[in-house]
Amino acid sequence: MGFVIGYISDIKVENIVHCQARTIVGLGGVEMRVNITLACTECKNRNYNTSKNKKNNPDRIEMMKYCKFDKKHTLHKETK
Ligand SMILES: [Zn+2]
Repeated sequence: MGFVIGYISDIKVENIVHCQARTIVGLGGVEMRVNITLACTECKNRNYNTSKNKKNNPDRIEMMKYCKFDKKHTLHKETK
């Protein structure tokens, strides 16, 4: 029983992450948003194009993202 509950909550967490990603894309072009590129710090490939709110994130953003070249999650940093 406990195992089943844990499995269901994993699916819910994944769905919430997908919904948030869609919302961020949908808000593009409003006020202080700028387009940025996220580059993998391990293989230097530019894996993600996204946007950020310059007012909320004045510094370069860093986040763990899946790199298809390294086949694992690596740290991605904002680049020009
Ligand atoms: Zn990489």
